[in-house]
Amino acid sequence: MTYAERTSHLNPEGAYQVLAKANQLEASGREIIHFEIGQPDFDTFSNISLAGIRAITEGSTRYTPPAGMPSLREVIAEDSGRRRGIHITPEEVVVGPGAKPALFFPTLTLVEPGDEVIYPDPGFPTYEAMIRVAGGVPVAVPLLEENNFSFDLEAFDRLVNARTRLIILNSPGNPTGGVMPQADLEHIAKKAIQYSSWVMSDEIYGRVAYDGLVIPSIASIPGMQSRTIIVDGFSKTYAMTGWRLGYGIMPRELAERVGLLLTHSVGSTAEFTQYAGVAAILGPQDEVAAVAAEYQRRRDVIVAGLNDLPGFHCQTPQGAFYAFPNIKATGMTSNELANLILEKAGVALLPGSSFGEHGEGYLRLSYATSIGTIQRGLEQIRAVLGK
Ligand code: PMP
Repeated sequence: MTYAERTSHLNPEGAYQVLAKANQLEASGREIIHFEIGQPDFDTFSNISLAGIRAITEGSTRYTPPAGMPSLREVIAEDSGRRRGIHITPEEVVVGPGAKPALFFPTLTLVEPGDEVIYPDPGFPTYEAMIRVAGGVPVAVPLLEENNFSFDLEAFDRLVNARTRLIILNSPGNPTGGVMPQADLEHIAKKAIQYSSWVMSDEIYGRVAYDGLVIPSIASIPGMQSRTIIVDGFSKTYAMTGWRLGYGIMPRELAERVGLLLTHSVGSTAEFTQYAGVAAILGPQDEVAAVAAEYQRRRDVIVAGLNDLPGFHCQTPQGAFYAFPNIKATGMTSNELANLILEKAGVALLPGSSFGEHGEGYLRLSYATSIGTIQRGLEQIRAVLGK
């Protein structure tokens, strides 16, 4: 069987592969501690779930306009604009089933075969996948551990050029938990303007931030909103991964094109899910802050524990819910160490190499799990590595 070339580079996400292996071990009677899964362990906040249920019972179970219900696009425009200090109109908002369509479809709309696309490495695997499906040339910019896993700006300056169609940013970042400082965003913005490049800013973890940090958006820098796609959604902020609700914010003409791709691919996002989204934005926001505070307590426990392991060195993440320890001093590859820890310690985590070449030498641990589980997992890893 032969398949179209555009799908030939696609790989599963590392998290699903490790989860499958962990599930196999569990089926054979082993108890496994899970640090591989990248989603909140909290239930969707109850006011949101109830709004979704009410929408179903009231018959909101039909198609909606492909780019989203006007009422949802309106509240997203107001909320997202206010948080970033910019003016956003509802026509600039495109709603989809999750944030992934807001990554994939603008990329398909902007990138011609042969266009270069800059993206973070280590980074979310969907970036490279969508660049390749579009026929673009993926250009990986390494992240600098000592600068909170922001871009290596010297490498960026060498790689950006007139063929750079799109620059993808992700702050706070998966898999590192790093936040890009304002100065770095300004540096990148200048180059984007110089080379007439678009910027895609994946801000899905923007409200999972620690130590009172307000995450800066490149879209807020003067001259950038007209060349930026902000990608955001409900999955992480409101613990709604399974509802499938996200959005992109982009200039109106681009939004119309992306809306056409939605028309002919997904048709529309579930209507009751969109009502739940309206309730999420208009409802009380204290649970968002409470959950972030809980993640911060977990972060402190896991980072301290990881720094205590032989051969491990872990930066303190400023956002998202991932720890990304440097394990180079163990002398093992990240794959060898991840396998050893799964098989011997019964702890599932991801090798940094599943996030790109520059993720080699690191592990990713999701701490969206209880402090008790984190402590047990760390003890079991210590018992294996301490020997
Ligand atoms: N971007 C990043 C960086 C992510 O980690 C994820 C989810 N793992 C997404 C986008 C996609 O989120 P959604 O569930 O809204 O499609």
